[in-house]
Formats: sequence, C-alpha cells, structure tokens
Amino acid sequence: MAKKQFKSESKRLLDLMVNSIYTHKEIFLREIISNASDAIDKLCYISLTDDKVGLNRDDFKITVTADKENRTITVSDNGIGMTAEELEQNLGVIAKSGSLQFKKDIGDKKEDVDIIGQFGVGFYSAFMVASKVTVVTRAYGQEEANMWVSTGSDGYTITPCEKDSAGTEIIIALKEDEEGESYGEFLEEHELHRIIKKYSDYIRWPIVMDVTKSRQVETDETDKDGSKKKTWEDYTEKEVVNSRVPIWQRSRSEVSDEECMQFYKEKFFDMEDPVSVIRISAEGAVTYKAMLFIPAKAPYDYYTREYKSGLQLYTSGVMIMETCADLLPEHFRFVRGIVDSQDLSLNISREMLQHDRQLKVIETNLEKKIKAELKRLLENDYDKYAAFYKSFGLQLKYGIVNGYGANRDLLSDLIMFYSSKAEKLITLADYVKNMPEDQKYIYYACGESVQKLDKLPQAENVREKGYEILYLTDDVDEFVVKTLIRFEEKEFRSVNDDDLGLETEEEKKETEKLETENKDVLDFIKESLGGKIAAAKLSHKLKSHPVCLTAQGGISLEMERYFAATQG
Ligand code: ADP
Ligand code: MG
Repeated sequence: MAKKQFKSESKRLLDLMVNSIYTHKEIFLREIISNASDAIDKLCYISLTDDKVGLNRDDFKITVTADKENRTITVSDNGIGMTAEELEQNLGVIAKSGSLQFKKDIGDKKEDVDIIGQFGVGFYSAFMVASKVTVVTRAYGQEEANMWVSTGSDGYTITPCEKDSAGTEIIIALKEDEEGESYGEFLEEHELHRIIKKYSDYIRWPIVMDVTKSRQVETDETDKDGSKKKTWEDYTEKEVVNSRVPIWQRSRSEVSDEECMQFYKEKFFDMEDPVSVIRISAEGAVTYKAMLFIPAKAPYDYYTREYKSGLQLYTSGVMIMETCADLLPEHFRFVRGIVDSQDLSLNISREMLQHDRQLKVIETNLEKKIKAELKRLLENDYDKYAAFYKSFGLQLKYGIVNGYGANRDLLSDLIMFYSSKAEKLITLADYVKNMPEDQKYIYYACGESVQKLDKLPQAENVREKGYEILYLTDDVDEFVVKTLIRFEEKEFRSVNDDDLGLETEEEKKETEKLETENKDVLDFIKESLGGKIAAAKLSHKLKSHPVCLTAQGGISLEMERYFAATQG
C-alpha cells in the first residue's frame, strides 16, 4: 500500500506538532475527545429523524482506555464515523478545521507555541505525544470500515478493515520517553482521569474509563474462629468521568448559592466564600453564559506581577483558555470566573478578527454587571463591602488613576475614604449627602495615618465648622482626588489649600492687612529658617495651633514626599 503525502500546509503543522516543545502536551486528549463529541453530535442529530440509527440519546458515549503494555491510548466513539474519502479529506488536509486558523496565526514563528494551548489545534496535536496514530472508522450507513495510519509527516495510509458498528477509534501509540519528557505518564489512570476532568469535564456525552477500585473478598483460608479470611482485591469498573453539565449551564433555580460557592472554592483554590456570585445568561450580539465571583480576600500575590488575571473561557463545554485577560477590564481584575459561549467556538479558531470583537462585547457587558453587583453590595451590606474594599479598594483606586479619569463614572461611586466624622470608610456620595448647605468643597487631608491626621492643625477649623474631612492615607489616594477633580459638582479641596472657602471677604481683607503690617516679622521668620521655607504667611486657618506647614503649588507635602521617595 503506497503512502500518501500530506498536503503541504498540513505537513508544516504536523512537523510543528511532532517537534513541539509546548509543555502542556496533555491537551491532545482534549482535542481527540472533542472531535469524538462532535461526531456523536452529528449522529445524534440524524437519529432524531432516522430510526435506522438504532441508538437513543443515552446510548452515545466516548470511551478512553490505556494499554500499558503496548503504550497506547484509545479513544472511541459511536458517532458518525468517516468514509474513506472523508478520512482523506479530514485528516490528510487542513481543510476548514480549526487547525487552519491556527496555522495562520502561528505563521512562521515556530517559537510561539503558547498559542497551542489556546486554540482548537485539532487532530494533529496527537503527534505531540504519538509515534503513530491509527484511526479505525466506519461511517454511519456504510458496511465497510477503513483504517488510517500515520507515523508523522512522512505520510499516511488508508486501508479497508472490519468494524462492527458506526463510529471511530483513535489509537495513539505514545512516543518512547525522551530525556526530560515522560509520555508514559499518560498511561496512568489517575493522570488520564485528571486530564479529562481538567479540559473535558463539561463535554455533554459521557466519557467512560476503566477505573480501578478495591473491594474485600473472602479467601479459602479460615481464621481461628472458623470464619473465612478476607483480603483486598482490585477490580476495574467502567465509570463516567466527566460531570457533563457545567454548573453555569444549569438554571438558577436548580443550583443553590452554596453549590456555587463550593464550586468556586474548589475551582479557584480559595478557602473563603466569595462575597458575591454573579450569574449571567446573555443573548443577543453574542450569546454566552457566565458565572463570576468576587473574592473576599486578595490572594497573596494579587498586587504582584505573578498574579494572572482573567476568566476561564469555554466553548461548548470545552475549556480553551485558562485565564483569558481580554474578558476582564483591568480595574476589575480581582474577579474570578467562567465564560462559556457557543458563538466563540465557530470563530475563535477560524476568524480571529471577529472573535476579538465578540470578546470585547462580552467584556463590556461583564464590566457593567460587575459594577452593578458591587454597587448592590455596597448599598445592601456595608460590612461585606468594607471587607471586600479592604482587599481590593486599592485596585479600584488604581483604576481611576490609571484610566486618567476615563473610569471616573464607573468607579468613583465604588471608592471609599475614611471620614473624620463617621469614623469609618464612607463613599463620596455619602459625603456629599452629609454636606451642610453652606459647605462648598469636599475637604480632604493626606497623611500617614488617621491618628496623625486627626491632630493636623489646619484640619481643626474645618472640623469646627461641622464639616467632614476625608482622611487619605494610601499613597494613591491623593492622585485619585486629583484625577477626579470633583464629585457631583463639588470640588475636592485639601485642608492645606490657602483658600478653604471658609473666610468671608472681610476676613480675607483683614488677613491681607495684617500681613502688610507684620511684614517685618514674617521676613524675619523666613530668614531665620535659612531658606528652608518658601514663604511665611499669616493664616486664618488655625485655631488652637500657632503654626502649620503648607505646600505650595497645589500638591501636598505627602505628594512631595512621595515623589522624593520614588525618585530617590
Ligand atoms: P476540527 O475539529 O476543528 O474540524 P480537527 O483537526 O480536530 O479539526 O479534526 C478534523 C476533522 O476530522 C474533523 O472536522 C472531523 O471531520 C474529522 N474527525 C476527527 N475526529 C473524528 C471522529 N472521532 N469522528 C468523526 N470525524 C472525525
Ligand atoms: Mg477538533
């Protein structure tokens, strides 16, 4: 039987797979299983209108078996199968398959292997781990079966063979273990089990595996008391490995909050319940389901470069990306969760441009939902929100500063600062609501700690007036108010500012007058300090304190200090 050659572009992809240095080679199983699932979908669809199929919905399944002796993994399905021509078309050429887009994306950059994990790279991915792949298949409605065999890019053969019923069997002969690379691990039951769970847990057809179990059995020997001795015996049992229906696909009424929280903790390795679960079922421009979680605490590496933000992306039950950052706006990067869209399955591997646009649509929607949920939490459960804010408030504040005000409307009503009056964190909306009618500005003071700010000389007068002061104690806080400029028409004003809007015109004139009268004293003070200050001025701002230090040019001493520290 003469060997047939792969079409040139297939050959290139195949070479890439054979020589792949991609570390997550385990995804080959995901690809083979999802093909099996597709094939069952097709036959199941036919069976709806064609009695001759002779299978019920419940009869369809995918079986995964490992043969340690022969170092093979076999994935079989009772799906639609392939005719000889189809074998030729589907496995000899990269036709319309996901592999095609993959090939385009990867172009000549062979080193860009990361992309392998993200896309449906398809059938050829088996060659990352296989020295030989055999496909035994019989198309539905055909008597004859065919066998396709290939050991890699040197070509393939197709020969007729026997098969009892429609479906396909993919036999993957694993490469011999190479240095630093053990393919034998894929033969281990627990390893196969893990890989199926990880990538194919939500394939809607059952994935069946032989699972080893132990049971106690009686032996022929008897104990002293006459009873039969017992011993443990291993046996194997067929078991459905995958959960099939993902929790986010089940209706709201079917899944309790507790179940969602449990799912979150297991999936995202958190010990604590999230503060919120957001469930979204969207239809329209893009149809998708999402289940998002707002964690209660920041993971230890959250504010470091190590932290990888993003949502898990599924299409039709198959995980295609573990952390898809495109789905989450930066300022909400603490959100964990899952997005599942069937619309993407068509496009993600085939038409990149479109898929980018669709991800953008989803991201915008998610942003709105997250915002709404945080707002709801803030309004309904202050304590819970405060706990969340303790972990992620910094992120929201960075969001305002980094967005140069673009996120002003989105984030300004989610941030909180410590209030001199309420003695706890309050929102800007709370602040403005509490403002007496004659108060013009939103006052703030920057410093190291609430305790120190409470003693600030220039704050005394403001507080005396019955005005609330926001104590800003994080480095980023002052940048936040500088970025926001105002909130609900009210300008922010530092208690350090020369004009706090507290004095009447008369009082201002009075001060000016005193300043000229006492020019000599003020000059004397300035000179005595030997250039350590820019100017000495009279002030109305003080009450029980004789003197205070103020910065010039609209930035605070703290900011000056901050810049000095970052530059030094
Ligand atoms: P894709 O799944 O994106 O089309 P693949 O490279 O994974 O690309 O598969 C190529 C084609 O081979 C499939 O489109 C399908 O027609 C055929 N195929 C692969 N596995 C099976 C199977 N188990 N049963 C039937 N057809 C299959
Ligand atoms: Mg496929």
